[in-house]
Formats: sequence, C-alpha cells, structure tokens
Amino acid sequence: MLELTRHVVRISARRDRTEINSAMLDALLDLFAPGELTIHRCYPSRRQTIAFACAGVGRDGQRFERNAYLPEHRYCRSLDSDPLLRQCADTQAPVLSALDGGAQRIVFPVSRPDQLLYLIDLNLPVTFPPEQRIALMGLIEYFGNHIGLLDYGESDTLTGLASRRTFDKHLFELLGQAHPDETGRRRGSAHGSHWLAVCDIDHFKRVNDDFGHLIGDEVLIMASQVMRDSLRFDDQLFRFGGEEFIALLQPTDAASAQRVLERFRRNIEQQVFSRVGHVTISVGFSRLLANDTPTNAIDRADEALYYAKRHGRNRVDGYEELVASQAIAPRQPATGEIELF
Ligand code: GH3
Ligand code: MG
Ligand code: MG
Repeated sequence: MLELTRHVVRISARRDRTEINSAMLDALLDLFAPGELTIHRCYPSRRQTIAFACAGVGRDGQRFERNAYLPEHRYCRSLDSDPLLRQCADTQAPVLSALDGGAQRIVFPVSRPDQLLYLIDLNLPVTFPPEQRIALMGLIEYFGNHIGLLDYGESDTLTGLASRRTFDKHLFELLGQAHPDETGRRRGSAHGSHWLAVCDIDHFKRVNDDFGHLIGDEVLIMASQVMRDSLRFDDQLFRFGGEEFIALLQPTDAASAQRVLERFRRNIEQQVFSRVGHVTISVGFSRLLANDTPTNAIDRADEALYYAKRHGRNRVDGYEELVASQAIAPRQPATGEIELF
C-alpha cells in the first residue's frame, strides 16, 4: 500500500505526457512485475484508430520510452491489426486472453465518454492475487484521471482542439526532435520538412453579425471537426484564437503540404453548416526551420495568409512559393536561421 501511494504521488507530480508515462511504467513494473507491457496512446479518427506504443517493456525485456507527443510511424499500428486491442476499444472495458502456461494478457482502456485516450496492455504472471488485481485497476483508473485533467488543461473548451497554451510546447518538442547529425542534416530529412499553417475563417464577423454569436460558435465547432478529419492522425491542430487555427504538419515535401491543405480548404468549402450554409477558409503556410521560434514561424505563415486574404480569400498560399515567385519580399531571417528539415 505504501509503495502504491509512493508511485501515485510521483505520477501526480508530473505534467508532461512522456514523464507521466515513465512514472507509470516505473509503478507498473515495480508493483506488478508484468512479463510484457505497452502503454499505447490512441488517435481515433473517422476511419480508424491508431495506437502508438509510447512506453513499455518488450518481449526481450528491454524498456522503451518514446516522446508521447510525437507518434513515430514505425511504432504505430491500426487497432484493427490486434483483435484484443480492438475489442478493448469497442467495449471500453478491460479484456483478457489466456497465454501459454497459464499467464494472462489483459488490456485496460483509458477513455473519456467520447474518446479513447490510451490502452494499457500487460502480460501478467500465473499467480496474480485478487488484491493485486484491485490495486492494478485502481492505479490505471488514477492514471486515466490524471491524463483527463491534463487533457482538460490542454484543450480549448469550445472546440476540444489543443489550445494556444500548448502550441509552444508542441513546437518545442517537434524542434527538439530535430537534432542535426554531424552533417547538419536532420534525421528525417528524407521525408521532407515539417510545415506550419495558419488557417483563418473568411468573413467570420459577418456570420456573427448575421446569425448571432451562438450560431457562430456552432460553425467553429463543426469547422474544427472538419479540419481535424482532413488531417492525418499525427498532424497537430490547435485553436489559436477566435476563428484562427494552426496546423503543424508532419514531414512532407512542399507539393504534398499544399495538397493536404488544399483538401482541408475544399472540405470546409463543401461542408453545409446548418442555418449559415457555406463558409470558407484562407490558409498560409511555411516550412519549419531548425532554430525557429514560434513567432518567426507564425509570422512567415501569417504573411502568406494575408496574401491569400488580399487575393480573394478561400485559397491556400505557401510563403516559400510566394517569395520564389517574387509575389512577396522575403522576411529578414533571424541570424543563423538555416534550413534543417
Ligand atoms: P477575414 O476574412 O479578413 O478574416 O474577416 P473576419 O471577419 O473573419 O475577420 P475579423 O478578424 O475582423 O473577425 C473575426 C471575428 O471572429 C470577430 C469575432 O466576433 C469573431 N470571433 C472570435 N472568437 C469567436 C468565438 O469564440 N465565437 C464566435 N461566435 N465568434 C468569435
Ligand atoms: Mg482572424
Ligand atoms: Mg477571419
């Protein structure tokens, strides 16, 4: 009991997802000695749910801890590829299967009523007394509550998207991952660059003026859902202020970034908003640089956004393309800013 309390206190002191996972891993290993263990962070989307194995102990006994904010594709899989994970997600209840030699595999869900957040997947030894089982369930419930509070603090209350407060942290994690190797190039450079897009609903003031603030809020909720569904699970979307959103796109080339954002723009254009009908969105985007500050990156994307606004709205413009075609003058880069991604 004392040990359990000690671990709960340690977990409760953490506010960073990667650190919380690490403390949770310590607790599970220390208290229950599972054979194998995986903490999956889940990314539900309209088509499928992706599970990212962000911490655990593998079959080989090796402990692994990954940045819980940046799902790496090679450690992600669709829930459909594992029937037990799938069943746990569907029933939102612990599920169990017998393993050879009498051991058991149990998967616990960590969820909000409307969303699956994590799955905790463990192999338990043959002898696992009932009081241990109760303690394990209590610990996982506690973990879920702690994550729930974290999510609540990080989300925008109207749309449920990540809020502006969390943007700097996400960008920092993303830039931090980009350690250049000795040649000065980023690890993932073969996959292209990260991109930052600023998205602003066109003439939104008119929506409020014509239909009232409440209907305006409804448009924001629905538009944010359309935007979320237009992006990949590992692209990050933030509500940045009023009717302004920021997307951080995973590494890709300029043409693909443009294509993704065009799809995003088109999906908004085609959506029918009850009462209001149609709204449109303008998007400006820019490549992330190695030593970007949030302000620098946003300023470049904003410049492209203003170009889009001045040139008819309902369009997507890239800063680099505009500079290359001399449609806009380059911003003075901060000293030492180099293209790294
Ligand atoms: P533009 O095409 O140039 O972006 O025009 P706009 O009217 O969208 O731009 P502007 O920035 O002038 O107006 C944004 C409006 O968004 C003003 C404000 O009333 C509204 N707004 C900001 N936050 C919220 C919100 O949370 N709910 C609602 N309903 N409206 C909001
Ligand atoms: Mg605006
Ligand atoms: Mg606007």
